[in-house]
Amino acid sequence: MARVLFINAGSEGHINPTIGVVQELISRGEEVVYFSIEAFRERIEETGAIVRTLDDQQFIKAFISGGRDYLLERVNGLLLTADIVIPSVLEQIKGEHFDYIIHDSMFGCGRLIAQILKLPAINSCTSFVQTKESFDQLMEQFYTEAPAEIVKAVEDRFHSLTAKIKEQYGVQIHSPYEAFCNPAPLNIVYTIREFQPYGEAFDQTYKFVGPSISSRLTPEHVELSAMKGKELIYISMGTVFNQAIDFYKLCFEAFGNSDYTIVMSIGNKAQIYDLGDIPQNFIVKNYVPQMDVLQYTKIFITHGGMNSAHEGLYYGVPLIVIPQSADQPIIAEQVVNIGAGIKLQMEELTATELRKAVERVLTHPSFQKAVAAIRDSFRTSGGSHQAVDEIIDWKRQYLG
Ligand code: UDP
Repeated sequence: MARVLFINAGSEGHINPTIGVVQELISRGEEVVYFSIEAFRERIEETGAIVRTLDDQQFIKAFISGGRDYLLERVNGLLLTADIVIPSVLEQIKGEHFDYIIHDSMFGCGRLIAQILKLPAINSCTSFVQTKESFDQLMEQFYTEAPAEIVKAVEDRFHSLTAKIKEQYGVQIHSPYEAFCNPAPLNIVYTIREFQPYGEAFDQTYKFVGPSISSRLTPEHVELSAMKGKELIYISMGTVFNQAIDFYKLCFEAFGNSDYTIVMSIGNKAQIYDLGDIPQNFIVKNYVPQMDVLQYTKIFITHGGMNSAHEGLYYGVPLIVIPQSADQPIIAEQVVNIGAGIKLQMEELTATELRKAVERVLTHPSFQKAVAAIRDSFRTSGGSHQAVDEIIDWKRQYLG
């Protein structure tokens, strides 16, 4: 048995795929101490892990204070979370022994903590991964698009933050790529290589284990028995970029009082009463048990978060992707590339366009065929089971 320190933060999309992995690690005899935020305590404790928490408000404040307009600002945001996470983790694990770390690929400064504690590390990648070259290409956009004075200010901040981290914690950050992607000797990627852009570019330290889908504890309930046999459309913009009142109203216009039944999850930032009159064929909630709903769904209108895209395709549901931010445009592209759905732009979207897209996907068999193919590939990939096989193999090689 080994003791595992799992470092994550409070983003649902970065936590959900790890639930099955932690469950599986524990069933094979590992002990897991998992750092996240209070809101996910129960969900993580359900796996058998010991949960410790970080201050979510301070974390988000620090991350956002880096700026949101450019990639290097988001890198700085991550570095700004170091002073929130690192002292708190070190204090809470004082005197304890761990054999290795698993850390999120983005949040929680796990790579730095691994270096401070001199522990071998595994990177848990809940979205597409980047090579140094592909990341540097994204950075090039920043250098060509941003005004020179902004480039200088953001770069200076990056250098002063990395210098401060070196001084305070004795660890060196060599590049924005390292700070943002947190590569490790083993990188577990929760998708299949065929779905990953330029999948062949990644070496053997990247293990594409497939979507890690597991049932999870959610307090919310939707009466699903009423949905059997209905032409059900599920709409969700995920848990982060979901303040989209105008879009939700546009959905009323597109599908209100039609033969479709619509389940719409609007997230916790908008209030249901802000939406005005809700058509009778809509069930609107702040949050729904997405995995359960997807099993009845004919078509999923999604923002294209990695988890939502995976979960939809895993249940054989074609997607209409309306990307909002972050990695979502790339995910939307990949969905279109494999023929499993349509991509629409939120700006200038009309109710007619949305309705027509749904009709097109439902009536063209090519979508269903493509979805069936990717569903089968997802289902035959090993997911969380395969992830833990890779971790155990790696342990044997690195830890003896
Ligand atoms: N989710 C859910 N119910 C909801 C909305 C979202 O269970 O009403 C879950 C969804 O199943 C997925 C995660 O929240 O696992 C969202 O992750 P994703 O990567 O799709 O998007 P993000 O929220 O990170 O933008």
